[in-house]
Amino acid sequence: MKKQLHWYDRLWIVTIIYLGLGFFNILFAWLGLIFFCLPLILAIGGKDKLYCNHYCDRGQFLALLGGRLGLSRKRDIPGWMRSKAFRYGFLAFFMVMFFQMLYTTWLVFTGARQLGMSVRLLWTFNVPWHWAYPVEVTPWAAQFAFGFYSIMLTSTLIGIVVMVLFKPRAWCVFCPMGTMTQLICKVKAKEE
Ligand code: SF4
Repeated sequence: MKKQLHWYDRLWIVTIIYLGLGFFNILFAWLGLIFFCLPLILAIGGKDKLYCNHYCDRGQFLALLGGRLGLSRKRDIPGWMRSKAFRYGFLAFFMVMFFQMLYTTWLVFTGARQLGMSVRLLWTFNVPWHWAYPVEVTPWAAQFAFGFYSIMLTSTLIGIVVMVLFKPRAWCVFCPMGTMTQLICKVKAKEE
């Protein structure tokens, strides 16, 4: 029997729209805060893995590319990638990079640094992105948008690479949001 489709089964389109909008106007990157806060709010509110299981656009996007579109080699995910050390290590690294992005935003806010109109790929390569800044706003708000978009694009690219090399949703094994929501659920389970 064919699985009944729900409205949230097509949220993969959100990933494409989000990344596409950021290509034309970087200020849309602010919308990414929804993807950042919603999983945490749902996990804290007791909805455990609801976001990952139903509402995560990126998870669906990777499943679509690797599954229906057949872009994944569907190989076993290596044990080290599943290990706690790697997952928590990656989460720690991700958070350090996130706070570094916030610090850069702060420097621009205080005037200690000029707005950088580039996207930082893989936390290393500065790719010019000035065309995506057609309307001037307060510089710190634009800096945050460039920084946040850098994080979103970088994590999507890593997700695509591991999707091709391993299983469609290999990224979910060490996704920082997934690790954080899992941690929240564990802490809550201990308290109960
Ligand atoms: S682990 Fe991350 S990418 Fe995967 S479904 Fe959950 S939030 Fe989405």
